[in-house]
Amino acid sequence: MSSIASVGTAGVSPCRRLDALFAELSELTGQRNAIDGRIVEIVAEVERDELWGATGARSIPALVAWKTGVSPANAETIAAVAHRIEEFPRCTQGLREGRVSLDQVGVIAQRAAEGSDEHYAQLIEVATVSQLRTAIKLEPRPEPDRRGPQPSITKTSDPNFDFWRITLPHAESAVFQAALQSHRDALITEWTHDRDTSSGEPDQHPPMPTNVDAFLRLVQTGWDGEVQRRPYGQRTTVVVHLDINQQIGALHLGPLLCDAERQYLTCDATCEVWFERDGQPIGAGRTTRTINRRLRRALEHRDQTCAVPGCAATRGLHAHHIVHWEDGGPTELANLVLVCPYHHRLHHRGIITITGPASHLVVTDSDGQQLHPASLARAPKKPPPAVQPCKGPTGERAQWWWYQPFQPQAPPTTN
Ligand SMILES: [Zn+2]
Ligand SMILES: [Zn+2]
Repeated sequence: MSSIASVGTAGVSPCRRLDALFAELSELTGQRNAIDGRIVEIVAEVERDELWGATGARSIPALVAWKTGVSPANAETIAAVAHRIEEFPRCTQGLREGRVSLDQVGVIAQRAAEGSDEHYAQLIEVATVSQLRTAIKLEPRPEPDRRGPQPSITKTSDPNFDFWRITLPHAESAVFQAALQSHRDALITEWTHDRDTSSGEPDQHPPMPTNVDAFLRLVQTGWDGEVQRRPYGQRTTVVVHLDINQQIGALHLGPLLCDAERQYLTCDATCEVWFERDGQPIGAGRTTRTINRRLRRALEHRDQTCAVPGCAATRGLHAHHIVHWEDGGPTELANLVLVCPYHHRLHHRGIITITGPASHLVVTDSDGQQLHPASLARAPKKPPPAVQPCKGPTGERAQWWWYQPFQPQAPPTTN
């Protein structure tokens, strides 16, 4: 490498060399911005037309990280810009034409107020990423509603989700937030540790833990002190009543379960199953089905991460029966595979399929396409985009006292 460089550069002054290198850098930066612009358009189309549901990925950022091999943080940026591409036509135009970088548009897509495309379209051409952050921080934030809601927890539902709304006074809310934060910190520590020590490809790491993950962890650690003393791998105490004649499952004091939910809950030994015949309990659990500590350790040694390509979750994995034990599948290594709770549920809902044996595992999406862990990257066949070179933001010192922050328009009144 250095010998090639020295042949072509002998006698050329460092200053001239740097000029030549910067010129090339500027051209490549313009091309890279334009390519990022097209990537964002593709992701936006996948999201808008809901094309990604079949892939088994847990979110758009996870899909982007998997298919492009970028870090979770970069994938978040791409997904954020894609999500607001129609709201910021001028800023994303600058990206497609190579004049501004993905990170510059990303700051705006992640934080800027609605209707601010026009305002930032000019600033983005000259401001650095951190200057854009400062500009967005100067946006006035909406006044909180002062009508005084009462503390409450309410729940509404649609066919797919339950919506919880928690209203707390500031003091209680601060306690809640601190608890949530401590669980999120713990998850992020684990996540960072996994990422740093895992031998897998960087694109296969699970997404960064969210507040939802932190909330579920808070609930799981808090709900039952008994759980702490249970054998390893048995975390939950969901009680399921199962009628063995009719194969009907019901949650304890709860609703009847559909086939998919029943098989999901009874797949791993994470729930207590009461077997019943004609409404009479005839036993609890079946020892051959229970995954004991040694089997669990052997599974963890073999699989290490969730078996679904594109997912590298390592925590809270479920042992999934490839052939369900209801259908006679044995509880042994060849018929078991570790999957994360998200993909386990997705499988039992029929969105992805997992077929064995475990040594030749095939995972397919809902169209029957086999999923592969690698990114889609390959050598380009098309020439790079024909755009102007990009020198990057001017990097001038910002004169914040002259700067007019974006002022959101008052929402139109309907009366
Ligand atoms: Zn399962
Ligand atoms: Zn998974």
